[in-house]
Amino acid sequence: MKYNTNFSNIAQNYLFAEVADRSAKYAAAHPDKKVLKLGIGDVTLPLAPAVISAMHTAVDEMAKKETFKGYGPYEGYDFLRQAIKGYYKDFGVEIGMDEIFVSDGAKSDLGNILDIFGTDNTVLVPDPVYPVYVDTNVMAGRKVIFANATKENGFLPMPDYSVDCDIIYICSPNNPTGAAYSVAQLKEWVDYALKKGAVILYDCAYESFITEKGAARSIFQIEGARGCAIEFYSFSKIAGFTGVRCGCTIIPKELGGDGLNANKLWYRRQATKYNGTPYIIQAGAAAVFTKEGMAQIKENIAYYQANAATIAKCMDELGIWYTGGKNSPYIWLKCPNNMGSWEFFDLLLNEAQVVGTPGAGFGKNGEGFLRLTAFGSSQTTQEAVSRIKKLLSK
Ligand code: PLP
Repeated sequence: MKYNTNFSNIAQNYLFAEVADRSAKYAAAHPDKKVLKLGIGDVTLPLAPAVISAMHTAVDEMAKKETFKGYGPYEGYDFLRQAIKGYYKDFGVEIGMDEIFVSDGAKSDLGNILDIFGTDNTVLVPDPVYPVYVDTNVMAGRKVIFANATKENGFLPMPDYSVDCDIIYICSPNNPTGAAYSVAQLKEWVDYALKKGAVILYDCAYESFITEKGAARSIFQIEGARGCAIEFYSFSKIAGFTGVRCGCTIIPKELGGDGLNANKLWYRRQATKYNGTPYIIQAGAAAVFTKEGMAQIKENIAYYQANAATIAKCMDELGIWYTGGKNSPYIWLKCPNNMGSWEFFDLLLNEAQVVGTPGAGFGKNGEGFLRLTAFGSSQTTQEAVSRIKKLLSK
């Protein structure tokens, strides 16, 4: 019997534990000071009333013999896939019902999708980025190489044809940098993937935060993407489903290679290992796309966007370089005076009692940067911003 020794190759990520530890120690030593947290990557507003009402109705259906539901379709109920299809159609992307696979969230699918790929593929991951992409591949023993995201390229690395790879991760708008690719920039990635025979795994978890016209909302807005891309959609940030759990993966029917079809492989994988997203959750998720649900959800997103704008304005006033804030709930800023990520984290905590997330925890190129998030309350955000201004304009 052998355990999977690849697990010993996963770098221990102490980022959030260390942030929590330093903040807790500071709070314990200074009980009179109010610590404001702008580090959280989780939503804070409650679910929209339309979602709650749809879930209540679904619970009641489960209580009656005539409407009770047992195992559902592996790929999700038609009513939800139809609603997702309609949402994409509204911004000009046509996807087939049989290309949509409902799941319990993007994180699970991003990890699970690797079941359909061989372990000898080389994987290209941007640095810095959401740590799940690297860890899931290291667990499976795949070779991971990095595309450098830097201040010089606006944290949006572009393809380098001298690099060969088989699987490419793109997260746009990005966590942690908040940077979002334009349709024109993504076209370059699609062309590169097609040339290399690679597959793009496109994570659009923050799509609902896009405000700029040229920014891409889906990889399938790009010509040629159906031949090289899989998209991961999440209800977490659009509708506050982080604790409810729902997402979907979109795999074009024509995607495949080695005589195998990616859409069919994924169906087979899900049918074998997943018994479907709960009916009650899917009923709530479908309500997101109703007229009433969408209006309520947009109000919540606007609330976070206003916080992001407040933080971005503060950085503009202080002359601090940053990405994000416009198409994203994240503001990724260059630490002033060339401070290191943790050095600036400590300064903010000790002198302004504001908690951010040190960029160094997201990859080597994150050193010297800090992430602030817009998911707090409006009051907390405004207070934090005025403390930061006071501290840095001294
Ligand atoms: N992708 C990115 C880039 C994220 O930042 C997150 C959560 O923070 C997820 C995916 C997870 O999405 P879900 O809640 O649907 O699993």
